[in-house]
Amino acid sequence: MPIVETLEDVVEAILKSRYLISLTGAGISAESGIPTFRGRDGLWRKYRPEDLASPEAFRNNPKLIWEWYSWRISMIINASPNPAHVSLARLEDMGILKALITQNVDNLHERAGSKNIIKLHGDILTARCISCGYKKRLDAPPEELPPKCPSCGELLRPDVVWFGEPLPTEALGAAIIHTHRADAILVIGTSGVVYPAGAIPYTVRENGGVVIEINIGESAITPIADYFVRGKAGEVLPKILDLIAKKL
Ligand code: NAD
Ligand code: ZN
Repeated sequence: MPIVETLEDVVEAILKSRYLISLTGAGISAESGIPTFRGRDGLWRKYRPEDLASPEAFRNNPKLIWEWYSWRISMIINASPNPAHVSLARLEDMGILKALITQNVDNLHERAGSKNIIKLHGDILTARCISCGYKKRLDAPPEELPPKCPSCGELLRPDVVWFGEPLPTEALGAAIIHTHRADAILVIGTSGVVYPAGAIPYTVRENGGVVIEINIGESAITPIADYFVRGKAGEVLPKILDLIAKKL
């Protein structure tokens, strides 16, 4: 079990670091009202995400998959960044946070003002043709489901990474570079069970870096965390930021 340190110790570790990165997961957007996959998703609770977020599911029933994505897209458009997203953007502005690697497909990090964001699992607000690669930005769910490619007539799909699919090459390359530069990582709101994202904190640790985790419960990262802060990201991160501001 990792030692639960006080926030002062966490702040000291952050300020001592020279290359701090962050890995975020669905938990950081939970306080913005966007459910995690392991949370309660009302209407869609009868399906397992693994049975919806997969190439097979899309092939079998593209309309059903688009209905699920349309529901998620609407929710994301109507949501706002919470104090956890804002705190990470501030940490970057202060020059402390060097890169933000996210597994989230929402746009709340961008909207909070973060700039160096690496989207490992794609972007739910982009649709991509399954045949010709045409891409379209979405500012609302598509009107007709499933949407078709205006260029070749094939189906459009959400531009996200589904179970069993490889990660976008460019994002993965950037994530690897920052992971190897990092001497500290803030792991926030992720269960750490989706790979290769879940391996990032392990690599930082193997390279001698410090692992700081913020989560409401233990995760697959907790066993290697140097500091584990149990709490809501939207409550813990602003407190950390306040303490940092006092020390600078
Ligand atoms: P996950 O659902 O597996 O785990 C969420 C984690 O967040 C859990 O460990 C939980 O304890 C923690 N958590 C919940 N509320 C929290 C809070 N307020 N503060 C701190 N921690 C909190 O999520 P994951 O690890 O990101 O993996 C699931 C996959 O689902 C990812 O690949 C992601 O792309 C996708 N997903 C994305 C979104 C999104 O973009 N917002 C939402 C759901 C799922
Ligand atoms: Zn096309």
